[in-house]
Amino acid sequence: MYEPLSYNHWTHMAEPTQDPAGSTRPDLAELEPGELETALAAHGAPRFHAGQIYRWVYRVGVTDATLMTDLSKGLRATLASAFQLSTPRIVQDDLSSDGTRKLLLELADRSRVEAVYIPDTPAQTFCISTQVGCAMACGFCLTGKMGLVRHLTAGEIAGQVRVLAHATGLADKSFNIVLMGMGEPLHNYDNTMKALRMLHAASGFAMSPRRVTLSTVGIVPAMDRLAREPLMPNLAVSLHATTDEQRTALVPPNRKYPLADVLAACRRFPLKQRSRITFEYVLLDQVNDTPEDARRLVRLLSGMKAKVNLIPLNAAPGIAFDRPSDERVDAFARILAERDVSVSVRKSRGRDIRAACGQLIVEGSTTRRSAAQALAVHL
Ligand code: SF4
Repeated sequence: MYEPLSYNHWTHMAEPTQDPAGSTRPDLAELEPGELETALAAHGAPRFHAGQIYRWVYRVGVTDATLMTDLSKGLRATLASAFQLSTPRIVQDDLSSDGTRKLLLELADRSRVEAVYIPDTPAQTFCISTQVGCAMACGFCLTGKMGLVRHLTAGEIAGQVRVLAHATGLADKSFNIVLMGMGEPLHNYDNTMKALRMLHAASGFAMSPRRVTLSTVGIVPAMDRLAREPLMPNLAVSLHATTDEQRTALVPPNRKYPLADVLAACRRFPLKQRSRITFEYVLLDQVNDTPEDARRLVRLLSGMKAKVNLIPLNAAPGIAFDRPSDERVDAFARILAERDVSVSVRKSRGRDIRAACGQLIVEGSTTRRSAAQALAVHL
């Protein structure tokens, strides 16, 4: 029923190009502060201008170096001629009746991804993508069925935040980021971490890692690597099943990283004081939503600092599962709560514009490129 995932294919995949548009000029959007300082020095410009440039790009939101008016005319001309500044272009902007806003963004090579603004959850939250398509092949996710088109670059990942922050007027306010859009962030590890460092830069958004949540299906070696990062985001693990048989059917990477290994990686993951790992669990009617599943889930998480986020499936065309009734969702949640497992049921946001979790939009044909036009919120 589910496409088997070839790990040899993706673990030995050629590295994606850093400049999908093919330009040879360095891209200001792809440079960390230290790299930008080095690039400026190579052009004879003082390193301290890097902070000013970051402020223009991230806080002010300019997309043209000639508008950076506190730089000398000479430096502006150098930036404009020797560098590029790639910024995702909004090609569609949908507003839900509940305030959720979904942007369809076109990248330099015309690939498309979607990024979502979810207001008041309780903070303002941006949900962004890390890949065009996805190799993980989760059975309830249309993007997963379509395969990986390419990794996003660090600048494209951070660029979604730049665009969302300015489209929503939040560039100078606090917001949260969830890496739960299209793609598996830990499959695009280096670019994802570089994007987080760029978003953390003091003269940019100064994003605290506490405000960032990374969601993964459980790529164990990458989870262990993440555990050693100086900038460590909150961790969310997409569990979705309580037996290996069931999970391998729903989340094929489980074949390589079975439940016991994923949970062991969670148990050794260093948690900050008062923080917990979030376990996401999409509820599929009559598949993984039985009382036995709920009780097994309690046992699996026993002794862990964990919270469970239940996500009743948002049905989509091409997805062979149904959303359980509210009664089944309540019964599942009650079993967890009665056994002192912290649990919440994710409220669907933006369903009327197909921006809710797991909802997919595919426009046009079902080619690999059309996968780029799909939104899959990584469950
Ligand atoms: S749910 Fe997330 S990891 Fe799974 S196929 Fe979809 S985007 Fe990829």
